[in-house]
Order: sequence, then structure tokens, then C-alpha cells
Amino acid sequence: MEVLVLGSGTSAGVPMIGCHCRVCTSADPRNKRNRCSVLVSYGGHRVLIDTPPELRLAVIANSVDMVDAVVLTHAHADHIFGLDDVRRYNTLSGRDMPIWASAKTLSIIRQVFPYAIDQAAADPLVYRPQINLNEVKGVFELFGRSWTPIYLPHGNVQVLGLRVGNFAYCTDCSDIPPGERAKLVGLDVLIIDALRPNPHPTHLSFEQALAIIDDLKPKRAYFTHLTHDVPHDEIEKTLPPQVRVLHDGLRINLPA
Ligand SMILES: [Zn+2]
Ligand SMILES: [Zn+2]
Ligand SMILES: [Zn+2]
Repeated sequence: MEVLVLGSGTSAGVPMIGCHCRVCTSADPRNKRNRCSVLVSYGGHRVLIDTPPELRLAVIANSVDMVDAVVLTHAHADHIFGLDDVRRYNTLSGRDMPIWASAKTLSIIRQVFPYAIDQAAADPLVYRPQINLNEVKGVFELFGRSWTPIYLPHGNVQVLGLRVGNFAYCTDCSDIPPGERAKLVGLDVLIIDALRPNPHPTHLSFEQALAIIDDLKPKRAYFTHLTHDVPHDEIEKTLPPQVRVLHDGLRINLPA
């Protein structure tokens, strides 16, 4: 299994519009962060987690010529506003794109992308994404592997964390509740929300993320959804060796 990082930045991205701080103007490419997304590949299949606004730029930069399914963690703009770009995968594959998400996320997708959903009302002259919506009601199967939803608090929103094999992805959360932590034992790799040093009402801080990592003890862990507060290399200097910070374009290989 391989996990390719397409984006690792907070909702405003890094650099942020109109900011000239030392991180936003850094020459280190690891300080340039698209909004969050990863591609999980196994057995010749590619599953995209989230469709952020930079999806097109990220998949072109990383030569992701095909995606076989999309899983959405939640319907915040920074996680869904690139969904329209699955049109190119429709054209290249000749197939609809399966979209997997919670009932709440799917209801928002129907509102935000009505032109892709309402086939009867669709204008045949409009180039629209061909998607089919699948509700995540519990563990679901994608290309021969079980995907386990991890239910995460994120302000008023419930986010789907995801575990497949010994990899788990928990973006956009302010905690991992005890019952959900039980689904995250024995991990090889955990990617976890770690917004910034200071606390935030809907995201984990560095310290809070480290406490959860210390509890779950994955072999390796990575921070994601980062702000412009601290440069990449300075964050990593403060972390234990098994905990690193994602950067866009990183490929993580897992045993199975
Ligand atoms: Zn987000
Ligand atoms: Zn900045
Ligand atoms: Zn969010």
C-alpha cells in the first residue's frame, strides 16, 4: 500500500492570500501546502480521500492519471470544492466515479453540486461530473479491502476518519473519542490533524495530537492540516523521531 500526500495545509492553504510571514514566503517547498487530500493505492486501485480546491493542480503535479473511487471525510469547502474535476477521470475511464461519505456529507454534496446529481434536469451541453453516491453506514469494502469509519468530533460536524489495513487517516478533529481509539490499535501509520501549537476549538493542537499518538502508539505518525504558524523543519525538530510532518508530494509506503 502507498499513501501519496496531495495536500497537507489548513483551510486557507499555505501560503495564505495576503500573508508575507516567514512561512508564507519560505523557499522550502515543504512550506507550500495545498488543502488536505491523500491518495491511497493498493492492488492496482487508487482511492482518493477528499477533493480539495487544488485537486487538479495536485494530481497533475503528482501524475495521478486515474482515480477509482473517492471517499469524503466531511463537506467543508476545503475538502469538497475540487469534486468537479473528477470529470476528467470520467472521460478517461468511461465510468461513473463512486463517492463514499456519510449521509450528512452526501446531503450537502447534493445541494452544492445539483447539476451533477439531478440527471433529469441536467443540461446535456454542460460538462458535468458523473458520480454515484454511496452512504458509509459502517465498515465498507473498496477493491477487496475493508475501510473502517472512525467518527471524529469537529465543531458541529462529524468527520469520518478512515482505517484501511494498518493505515489510518484522521483529519479535521478536536479529539479522538475513547470508543473510536479502540479502532486504531496496531497501526503502522497514523495521519492526524495537528493544526498549530495553540489550541483551537475544532482542531487538535500539536500537543493534543502528540498525546493521542502517545496513547495509540502507531509505528509512525504524521501531522496534517497545518497552518503557517511554524516552518516545517522547526516543527519536526520538536517531535519524537517516529512523528513527522506531512508535506505535499510525500509518498508513504506501508507493508500491506
Ligand atoms: Zn479542513
Ligand atoms: Zn503566513
Ligand atoms: Zn473541516
